[in-house]
This record gives sequence, C-alpha cells and structure tokens, in this order.
Amino acid sequence: MLQRSLETLGLTSPRAPTNVIAGNAIARAALKPSTRGKRTLDQVPYITFPQLLDQFDAILFDSDGVLVRWPAAIPHAPEAIAELNALGKPYFVLTNDASQVAETRAARYAQLGLAIDPDKIISSGMLLKTWFEDHGLQGSRCVVLGTEDSAKYVRDAGGTVVPFHEDFDVLVVGDQDGFPFLDATRSVLTTLFRKLDRNDTPRMVVPNPDLFYPEQDGFGFASGSVAGMFESALALRYPHRPDLTFARLGKPHPAMFEEIFRRTPTRNLAMIGDTPSTDIRGANNVGITSVLVETGGGSVDLGSLPEGDVPDYVLESLEDIGSG
Ligand SMILES: [Mg+2]
Repeated sequence: MLQRSLETLGLTSPRAPTNVIAGNAIARAALKPSTRGKRTLDQVPYITFPQLLDQFDAILFDSDGVLVRWPAAIPHAPEAIAELNALGKPYFVLTNDASQVAETRAARYAQLGLAIDPDKIISSGMLLKTWFEDHGLQGSRCVVLGTEDSAKYVRDAGGTVVPFHEDFDVLVVGDQDGFPFLDATRSVLTTLFRKLDRNDTPRMVVPNPDLFYPEQDGFGFASGSVAGMFESALALRYPHRPDLTFARLGKPHPAMFEEIFRRTPTRNLAMIGDTPSTDIRGANNVGITSVLVETGGGSVDLGSLPEGDVPDYVLESLEDIGSG
C-alpha cells in the first residue's frame, strides 16, 4: 500500500535519485539536518533493519503490527528480537495496551517465539505510577473500568481500587474489556454527574488513548473511545467545564517516551511503528527518529499525512536483509 504512494512520488522509480531509495549514508547526511521539523514527502527514504541497528543506540518497537498481529508473530520479528538479545543491543517495546501487565504480555510473546524480557516492555498502564505520583493520588479511591491486570496497574501506582458502583476520587478507563460494560458505564456516569453537581471534581485518566484496535479480521473500539463517550456526555451536561477531560498517557503523548528517557541515557533512538498518528507523531514530538514499518497491514498513504505524522524513514520489514 505504501509502495504505491511512494511509486507515485517517484521514490522507487528509476527516476528517483539513488541516494534516496536505499536510505544510505548519503541520503541521511543530505536529508536529516534540513528535514527535521520540515520534511516533505519526497524526502522519506527507505531504511533496513541492519542499518537501524548500526545507526541507533537503542530500538523502540511498537507491538501490534510490528512484532505481532494477534494471534501470530509478524514474519521476521522473532529473528529480529533474537538478534537483539544475542547482540545485547538495548531495545524496548512500547505498547498502548493497558490490559496486561508486563509479565502477562511477556508470557504471551514467548508463546509466539518472541523472547522479550518483561523489563523491556513499557505499557501505558505502567505510566499510571508516575501520573499518580505527580498528582499525589496515592491512597485515593479508584474505579477501574478494565481487566484484572488494569486494576493491578492502579494498585501498583498506589491507588485503592473500589467497585464501580461506589464513590471514587479517580476514574481509570484501563481497557474496553473485562467489566460489565453497560452496568458499569451507567453507574459511573451517574456517580460523575452527582459528584459534579455538588462541585466535587474527580480525576479521570485513560492510559491507552487509542480509539480502536485492529483484530485478525476487523476492528474494535478501544479504551480511548470509552473515555470519549464519557467526555461527550460531560461536555453536553457541563458546557462551561472544558476541564472535564481524561488525562491521556500512551503514544502519541510524551509520557511513554519520557519513561524511556528515564530508563536509558541516550536520545539516539529509533521508534519503529505502524501507526502514523501514534507511533510516528509521538516520536517526532519528542525529537527521536521515527520509522514507519509496512507490516501493519493497514493502508497508509504518505501523501495524506499531516506534517507531524510523516516518518523519518520507511522500513519494509524486520527482515535481516543482507544476511542471506
Ligand atoms: Mg501498532
């Protein structure tokens, strides 16, 4: 899909300058300094996985569409991870999915042949810890709409999880799954309205701001849509309260990248993702290199992207090209 738009732009045709096609050193030297913050579409070069390993101190992977397409691994991903492990090359997996703690997710990766240590997995749920600290919310009563692992994230952050029909100080939309949707959302909306009517404003946070997620044969609404549902109702009932919005922690918001910066001293990082509006925008926003991989399965038309979502590089796959 990407290929077609690149061909349209002349990037893969014989007319294109050869130093742009391969994403080689000449292209980088010529393009990188002048294109940061002002890239145009005909300046997006291809890069290979070995080149990424050569040029960057650490690699950041999005999960779905890059390493896995549940319930299977993406081709070449297990070999790429094995190579990184063998080299001792630093890498992290950044996932907006807050439905599983790192140990649960690592175990699921292992079943697909991806040997990823839990401490290399950063999920948006983990970011709750810093968010609770920053806002002094330890010990506060939290209603968590989500899975049991979503609740564990909140407990790990210092929150006290209470049943959804009880009063709360913090509303956490941890996942779209794992709770009785209609009963819980009705109860929480009622509590929200009652609290706001007596000028008691709770905190609201949605670790994963994604609006929908891809499945093997379709799409589903993700937790960001659940939060958006509450926000729509609150905006209608309290039109003069623009503050009644959820804090959002996952990509493209900076919190997830700030967590990486806490864990590694280098800024020479490449973020490999399949979604321009989260992976690429998030990396561009914090000034690290963004790499759009074509294995996501969705159709991406580079020509339709807003400037902030245009990647620094395009990667065909995680294949170790050149090793045979
Ligand atoms: Mg993805």
